[in-house]
Amino acid sequence: MQGCRGAGVQGCRGAGVPQEQGSVESSIISTEIYLELRELSIRTIRERIAARTLSAVELCRAALDRIERLSELNAFITVTADAALARAEQIDRAAASGDPLPPLAGAIIAIKDNMVISGVRTTAGSRILFNYKPPYTATAVERLRQAGAIVVGKTNCDEFAMGSSNENSAYGPVKNPWDAARVPGGSSGGSAVAVAAGMATAALGSDTGGSIRQPASLCGVVGIKPTYGRVSRYGLIAFGSSLDQIGPLANSVEDVARILNSIAGRDSSDSTSSDIETDDYVAALEGDARGLRVGVPRQYYGEGLDPEVRAHIEAAIKKFEEMGAEIVDVGLPHTEYAVPVYYLIATAEASSNLARYDGVRYGFRAEEAPTLKEMYSRTRDQGFGAEVKRRIMLGTYALSAGYYDAYYGKAQKVRSLIESDFRNAFASCDVIATPTSPTPAFRLGEKTDDPLEMYLSDIYTITVNLAGVPGVSLPCGLSSEGLPIGIQLIGRHFDEARLLRAARNLERAIAFNSKPGAVENL
Ligand code: GLN
Repeated sequence: MQGCRGAGVQGCRGAGVPQEQGSVESSIISTEIYLELRELSIRTIRERIAARTLSAVELCRAALDRIERLSELNAFITVTADAALARAEQIDRAAASGDPLPPLAGAIIAIKDNMVISGVRTTAGSRILFNYKPPYTATAVERLRQAGAIVVGKTNCDEFAMGSSNENSAYGPVKNPWDAARVPGGSSGGSAVAVAAGMATAALGSDTGGSIRQPASLCGVVGIKPTYGRVSRYGLIAFGSSLDQIGPLANSVEDVARILNSIAGRDSSDSTSSDIETDDYVAALEGDARGLRVGVPRQYYGEGLDPEVRAHIEAAIKKFEEMGAEIVDVGLPHTEYAVPVYYLIATAEASSNLARYDGVRYGFRAEEAPTLKEMYSRTRDQGFGAEVKRRIMLGTYALSAGYYDAYYGKAQKVRSLIESDFRNAFASCDVIATPTSPTPAFRLGEKTDDPLEMYLSDIYTITVNLAGVPGVSLPCGLSSEGLPIGIQLIGRHFDEARLLRAARNLERAIAFNSKPGAVENL
């Protein structure tokens, strides 16, 4: 095992990294370390490890050190330092013996804590799973490991992925590295922060209504929600099963494409995973944007959109035009029903999925209940947080006899209208450009008392899940307060290749290279 020389890594104290969140240490962050971690792409890491100019152990220690130093951001619930270092040593050994390295060799990956890893505590941000150690591993995580990635830990998230600010976690809120008084977005807030603040090369998140794209937007990183069925959901703790999808967050379009290459594709353990051929998403990035038809749906530029966000999105669309793309007006006329439809379908599915947490087989169990029924009731009362309870009640109501047709049944019908909106729009364009979030990152506590206001922060992302199409968010500028703004590009079903190529071209034209500054003052 090598020391901490050479990689600009200072104050390396990997051995002291806590296995679980708890110790909070403040310190001045060295810019040198910071740049080192954020500026190494997956490709560079692999090449340098193969050339023996970087050791995987060194890189892993740097990440662990950074996680420890930035523990105030609360991005991780569990850090798997020992397993990560052991894996890194294996990769260094393979490099030393000249073996060809797998595609993600040495990439430091953080996993949202709603994906299971055998033997590693997995909480889904909930008290009800505070001690749950699953006996199996999610397919997406397993595929990353096979591809040589180093899993460094489990990231904080809204409880059962229900939320848009990460304030619904039983393990405390996550803070935004651009301004620690602000939310990182949610529900994959810890994953977005881990990437934005240089604690990991990339992360996995899950997205049911925007939970990869909205935090990516609020933290200034790239995040893609693939087509429903593109990535196996096996081992993802279910929220809304017809909407949930796993996807990567990273610092560049190329890095998310590289991760998608490893995780996409049919998995016999998930019957909803598709057997449509995957593409080589990295190779697909080649090529310019000439002739690309970019649809601009007027319904996404109305009331509630922050004028500064609008200005940045419009400037980005202009860049497409300058690159030779054709800008076309499209309509997505049923968009106005998306929020109510989503909050009927997602809650109905959640009420069914969350019925399994009863304190009997695993997880939290309330003490001293006099009867079995009382044990169930107290366990669920004490184990679930307020937002999760609200959703279970909403969903149970929507599914109950007498209301089913009026609520759930009707929502399903409107959902198919939303899906056909996209099919119609894609008859005249190849990708659709919208804001990702109506505003930049809001303040911690700003929306916690008003669930409806919170639900509106997903207004531009949830249609994508309802239709099952892929959507990517990438940074397109900074607000006057210095907060990142993201643009969302949406593609046709299973057309991630073209979607990512469009995103890559826009990324190059925008050349966003700002870095979060708040971490320097922690
Ligand atoms: N913010 C949305 C919600 O609260 C979406 C969450 C998600 O995508 N997991 O349901």
